[in-house]
Amino acid sequence: MITSAPFMSSREIDLSATIIDSLGFAAEGGRLAGGLPLANLARLSDVLVRPEGWLECELAGERITDASGQSKSLLHLKVTGRLKLLCQRCLSEVAFDCRIDSRLLLIPEGIEWPADEMETDEYDALPASRELSVLTLVEDEVLLALPIVPRHADCRLPGGWEWKEATSPFAALAQLHRH
Ligand SMILES: [Zn+2]
Repeated sequence: MITSAPFMSSREIDLSATIIDSLGFAAEGGRLAGGLPLANLARLSDVLVRPEGWLECELAGERITDASGQSKSLLHLKVTGRLKLLCQRCLSEVAFDCRIDSRLLLIPEGIEWPADEMETDEYDALPASRELSVLTLVEDEVLLALPIVPRHADCRLPGGWEWKEATSPFAALAQLHRH
């Protein structure tokens, strides 16, 4: 499915079942815009308080020529959405605004992974696939973007007392090191 539908109306297009040939998509300069219902993302749903709502997604294929004249295939992925995570301090819901804007360098099968390029932040690498599931790609990227320990910037623990940084185990360790 290739579409140039405007991003704003993308919710009408459910990308859950969309499969692309990644290198072909990049070569054609393919474009997709649509949404993914969170309820369809099983691995992500496991860490959500409530798997409600949608992720808005845009995917564009690109071919570029690098400084050494080699041509490369890329996918440019943008994902936005609000996720309801569990605050690890107070165990209540905390909203996380997910905003992903990544350029993924497609690595064809049998080609060595370019170690130099992976040291830069410019691209992430992705093995090229003839049957790339947009849902799996987006879910992988969102899982990587989640905070390791979700928590409110300022939260009150049940019982009304406030979390103090000084009571964290790290602060206690820092105290020990001073003696
Ligand atoms: Zn909290």
